[in-house]
Amino acid sequence: MGATRIIPTLFRENGRNDLNALERQNGFDPLAEGQAMLRLIAELYPICRSITGDGLRETLRLLQRQIPLELREVPTGTQVFDWTVPKEWNIRDAYVKNAKGERVIDFQKSNLHVVNYSVPVRQRVGLAELKEHLFTLPKHPDWIPYRTSYYKESWGFCLSENQLVGMKDEEYEVCIDSTLEDGHLSYGEYFLPGEMRDEVLISCHACHPSLCNDNLSGIALAVSLAQRLKSIPRRYSYRFLFIPGTIGAITWLAKNEEKIANIKHGLVLTGVGDAGALHYKKSRKGTAEIDRAAAHVLKHCGQAHEILEFSPYGYDERQYCSPGINLSVGRLSRTPHGTFPEYHTSADNLEFVHADKLGGALAVSLEILSVLENNGTFVNSSPKCEPQLGKRGLYRMIGGTPDAGVSEMAMLWVLNQSDGENSLLDIAERSGMRFDAVSKTAKALEEHKLLR
Ligand SMILES: [Zn+2]
Repeated sequence: MGATRIIPTLFRENGRNDLNALERQNGFDPLAEGQAMLRLIAELYPICRSITGDGLRETLRLLQRQIPLELREVPTGTQVFDWTVPKEWNIRDAYVKNAKGERVIDFQKSNLHVVNYSVPVRQRVGLAELKEHLFTLPKHPDWIPYRTSYYKESWGFCLSENQLVGMKDEEYEVCIDSTLEDGHLSYGEYFLPGEMRDEVLISCHACHPSLCNDNLSGIALAVSLAQRLKSIPRRYSYRFLFIPGTIGAITWLAKNEEKIANIKHGLVLTGVGDAGALHYKKSRKGTAEIDRAAAHVLKHCGQAHEILEFSPYGYDERQYCSPGINLSVGRLSRTPHGTFPEYHTSADNLEFVHADKLGGALAVSLEILSVLENNGTFVNSSPKCEPQLGKRGLYRMIGGTPDAGVSEMAMLWVLNQSDGENSLLDIAERSGMRFDAVSKTAKALEEHKLLR
């Protein structure tokens, strides 16, 4: 990757504005990035993941080829706040055979066919009894639903309604070749140090089997963000977590309580590859800097978007925003989970996610982080009436100059509002200008000693 080589020393010396500089100077191509994300998704798609077990481990090991992720293992039975790390689940094979010995439901064809965390089973049953363990989606007769039974020991199969209709009333041989035993809960962690101890948390769940938008798109986005961020100077440190949903977040928080205070901002990434509009869900605080940065970037991003208020339902923002943790962590998605029919079905497949949508989510995420990186509060060092811009060569920087982002209007706003109280994000919000323009202007004014 040429990224590190191309960045001029200027940006290395000054940690501010680097993300935007990188985007502009290295020909950041969201579509090409999205295509790379899609390739990673396709590689991970066939693996049967769960909240524990070898599928999750294999996924994390594949991610280690992309970023130097550390694998952590927490033993079964470990107490994590009000929860206990569960037994480890692994599966080799599963099927339902008809009287002729044909596999009418076959785990080898889709890992969604087995209720995730099913206990081992080997028995012969009639159709009526078998049906108590079968799940279909009558509304979408071709699709296989995704079901789990993590915290209640049971077993089951998921199949399409069309498959079920074709099953005769006869005796079936049921086999689930799984194990549910003491083992470990695995997760991946990648810490990228910055100038400050203050951290930005990037979290995604990695516990779903063959589902693309729900889980794999968030993983791919987190990987791309990590790859981009590691090659540029950073004010903040970044912590990436690839964890099983719910229990993974709870486990990390319970085992790292001393680190929680360092986390100043965070994003949960999930469901960013479908064709729908971007949705940012606010943190529990609702007015955190990340909430305002995300709203600002989305307002100016030129893509369809929506801002959602916090609710205690959703992904791991539930844990990060529980009252005793209360981190400034929001969530970036496209169509919110549960509101599209493909959600938790076999139709959340490789066709359901799109390179341009993945790339668009990456561009927006980078810009949100760029706001956090570059936000700051300045003081106008010539605050009595307006300083004379002309004699400093600033007046005719308007348009036409290479620094077209630095307009006279932006200078007037930044100078007027920089009284030590208003941050650059405050100024961007109040002026209606893009943060990037305000931040570049502040940099120019600082170089001319008009801001400190
Ligand atoms: Zn899900």
